Formats: sequence, C-alpha cells, structure tokens
Amino acid sequence: VYIIAIESSCDDTSAAVLLNDQVLSNVVANQKIHEQYGGVVPELASRAHQQNIVPVVHQALSKANIDKKQLSAIAFTRGPGLMGSLLVGTSFAKSLSLALDIPLIEVNHMQAHILAHFIKEKDTPKPEFPFIALTISGGHTQIVKVNNFFDMQIIGETLDDAVGEAFDKSAKILGLPYPGGPLVDKLAKQGNPKAFIFPKPKVQDLNFSFSGLKTAVLYFVQKQTKIQPNFVEENLEDICASIQYTIIIILMDKLKKASKSTGIKQIAIGGGVSANSGIREVLKQGEKKYGWTTYVPKFEYTTDNAAMIGIVGYYKYLDKSFTDQSVAAKARFSLS
Ligand code: ATP
Ligand code: FE
Repeated sequence: VYIIAIESSCDDTSAAVLLNDQVLSNVVANQKIHEQYGGVVPELASRAHQQNIVPVVHQALSKANIDKKQLSAIAFTRGPGLMGSLLVGTSFAKSLSLALDIPLIEVNHMQAHILAHFIKEKDTPKPEFPFIALTISGGHTQIVKVNNFFDMQIIGETLDDAVGEAFDKSAKILGLPYPGGPLVDKLAKQGNPKAFIFPKPKVQDLNFSFSGLKTAVLYFVQKQTKIQPNFVEENLEDICASIQYTIIIILMDKLKKASKSTGIKQIAIGGGVSANSGIREVLKQGEKKYGWTTYVPKFEYTTDNAAMIGIVGYYKYLDKSFTDQSVAAKARFSLS
C-alpha cells in the first residue's frame, strides 16, 4: 500500500510517501517568516502553507520515485492545530482524493506523535501494547495510556502551558530567538544544571503546570540583572541547564507516578520536545533504575512531519477507517 500524507497543523508544511510502514520520503518545509515575530503568526502560517503545499507534495512524490497514480490513499492532519493552517492541508487532501479517486483518511496530530514509533526502522524495536506515552510538544503535554493503535486514554496533561512553551518562553526571556527549545538544549550541555534552583509546581495527580516556571525565570532574570547588568550573558549556559533540569525533573516525576499506578513499564516519548538530549538521557537511565523499556523516536520524527501522519494513515487504511468529503478541520480535537 502506498500512502501519501500531509501535515499542516502549525508552521511546517510537510508531505510524506509511505510503502506500508516504511517511509520512502518525508519532506518538511519550515517557515522562517515567524522568527522575526518571536512566535508563530497564524495568518502568515496559512499563507505560507498555501505557497508550499504543491511543491512539497511534488518533492515527496519524486523523492519516493512514485507516480501519483500508484497511490492507494491520502492521509491528512484534521487537527488539533491552527485553523487556517489545517484548512490548507485538509482542502488539499480532499481535492487530491477526488481527483485520484482514492480514499481519504483523517489523522489526529497527537495520535500521530505517539504512533510515530511504529514507523519501520532498522534495528529499532516498536513499543508493545499497552504502553505509556509522554507526548511533549509545542502545544501539548500529555501522559497517555496507549491500549492499541486506536484506543488511547489521556491520564495526565498540562493545566496551562505546554513543555515546548516553557522552553520557548524561557528562551525568549533570555533573549534567544524563536523557537528557543533547541537552543536551550544546546547551551545546557555546557552548563551546570544545579547552578540555579527554580520552583517546581505543586500539581496533583498526573497533571502538569508549566506557566509558573516562565514567571519564575522572568523574576529571577529581572532581579539578577538589577544587581549585575550582564548577568544573563555571563551565565547563559548555567541558566539554560538549570531550566532544562527543572523541566526534566517535573516530567520524570509524573512519568514514574504513571508507570507505578498503571503497572506499565513500556515507556515511549514523542513530540517536538522529545528531541531534547537531556530528556533522552534521563529517560534512558529509567531502564536501569526502574526496569523500564524506553522508546525514543528518530530525530526527524519528533518535530512536526508528515511521516507520522502517514503511519497512522497506514494502520487506518488496514482498518478501512476512511472519511468522506464532508470532513472539516478541527482546531481542538481530542485524542480520547
Ligand atoms: P503540537 O504538536 O502540540 O500541536 P507543535 O506541533 O507546534 O505542537 P512540535 O513541532 O511537535 O510542536 O514541537 C515543537 C516544540 O518542540 C517547540 O516548542 C520547540 O522549541 C521544541 N523543541 C524542539 N527541539 C527541542 C529540543 N532539542 N529541546 C527542547 N525543546 C525542543
Ligand atoms: Fe506537533
């Protein structure tokens, strides 16, 4: 089965071609335009998608060395995400489905971040059901009990900011360009994670709260800069390492709780923030410490990409789970 997949939920336009669970091509066009605004501007994102989508799809087909007549189905991100962005991918997918007379498959973006682990890769084992997924991205922070491909239950989530926002907003306070997450990761490698201490939220159950952290970082920076104007420049690595360390402690604490309360030791992480090297390292230590088996997606399948939409498309295709032309994009679209 050849599946073409489209992802356009936020600021990356992506198209991928899969042969069953194997990725033949995965093309991602990043939108540079948002950098100067320090965050994604929805209206500009949808305009850029509109410009990018046709060339990106053509590239995905030619890299896969496939003619569009060979395609078995088209999968697209229905939500969650920015409405104007989702509309571009949704409309494109509907048109292609009509033109080629092939089935249309809707995909939930957060389900795709989780099922990215099922993309076939050499020497990479796939998680066994049931497993716990920690989805950490720019808009979400969720702990999900994954019973099978289609049965997923959110057992914990953020009450305010997502982890990615905690990274990006803290980075912004430090004067780093958007998106700051990868930069904080890079700088943290040279810093002392215990140089500064930031408060941890007191949130019950398996839920998270990250809005307090950015406020703590802001007050800390303001206070220190008053005393020492060059404080941020001179301590940038240590500040980044300390912020990242705080975030990792918060995530690991809940993950341990989730594993304990469910008795599940298969742990997978996904979403853009799962690219973070500190998180990957500490998660891996959980194998020895708690007897976990951990799964980390290949780097290119962490941040937004169409390959992960394609793998969900493939399993839905086998399940004959198709949608029709009346389908509409959904900005808020729950997993469960
Ligand atoms: P969602 O998936 O919730 O709709 P999104 O699609 O915008 O949100 P992703 O593309 O999955 O989010 O992830 C982007 C986020 O990942 C950004 O906040 C970015 O800063 C963060 N990120 C990427 N790489 C790293 C890294 N190495 N360390 C920390 N954060 C990172
Ligand atoms: Fe995402």
